[in-house]
Amino acid sequence: MMFRLENSVNQQIKLPHEAGVELFLKREDGIHPYVSGNKYRKLKYNLIEAQKEGFETLLTFGGAYSNHIAAVAAAGKQIGFKTIGVIRGDELLGKEYENATLSFAKQCGMQFKYISREDYRNKTNDLFIESLQNEFGRFYLIPEGGTNDLAIKGCEEILNQDDTCFDYICCSVGTGGTISGLINCSKPSQQVLGFPALKGSFLHEDISKFATKPNWKLISGYHFGGYAKINEELVSFINEFKSLYKVPLDPVYTGKMMFGVFDLIEKNYFPKGSRILGIHTGGLQGITGMNNVLKSKGLSLIDI
Ligand SMILES: *Cc1c(COP(=O)(O)O)cnc(C)c1O
Repeated sequence: MMFRLENSVNQQIKLPHEAGVELFLKREDGIHPYVSGNKYRKLKYNLIEAQKEGFETLLTFGGAYSNHIAAVAAAGKQIGFKTIGVIRGDELLGKEYENATLSFAKQCGMQFKYISREDYRNKTNDLFIESLQNEFGRFYLIPEGGTNDLAIKGCEEILNQDDTCFDYICCSVGTGGTISGLINCSKPSQQVLGFPALKGSFLHEDISKFATKPNWKLISGYHFGGYAKINEELVSFINEFKSLYKVPLDPVYTGKMMFGVFDLIEKNYFPKGSRILGIHTGGLQGITGMNNVLKSKGLSLIDI
């Protein structure tokens, strides 16, 4: 059910004694089979608000592999909203069946509107939104990636009382909504470290708009060339991690973050005795799509 089970478990990731630190992973990927991880958190209060205001339709934006699109489609189906996905790239029109994320969303009943990459850049302007209203009628608008005030309120529920024992909270960063919620629910004595999945951006500014405390930092060396870019080293890290700890990691977000955390541990970034909590923000639905891309390039695949 939506809006139930909201405390995910912290799984210990056993490191060799010499590492000198303890590492746990908060399994937010386990919250819901399709509305996974932080996308559940970000949608929760938006859906409650949409219901309260009597909306029947949700409209949102995303790319063809977007976890957010999959989550909105699944959540809409579950609680009885019509869903519309405005998708970047008009070359995808009629090719949903070739794409795991879009076929899933379609099965959930999502209706698509494909727009060119150029038009996609103007997606938030009033005239464009008005044209969407003319086309689809009244809808509750959820921004791309799902970040708004209500999304951050949802992400403020990720940490609980038991998590105050950690010195560091580490998470992947896309739009910065999730880390903002984590900062707001962390203790001032905790450090929140964000690992951007994108190369260069205005993230600092965006996070500062929402964050109520200064106990955070972005660590930008682990984006692997940019959003959704991956290499053999990352794929083998993810595969090794899964075989050692029985935890699947997505290649766009949590895989890069955990790669970064392991690298920092190796470089003694964390003082001896530190307790570190990584947040598994989910995103596992994207593995199939990524594997199709890897296969077409003749590269090794992510184990599923
Ligand atoms: C969307 C997403 C993120 C990024 O979250 P933001 O709130 O946009 O920073 C991180 N991890 C996963 C798995 C995601 O799907």
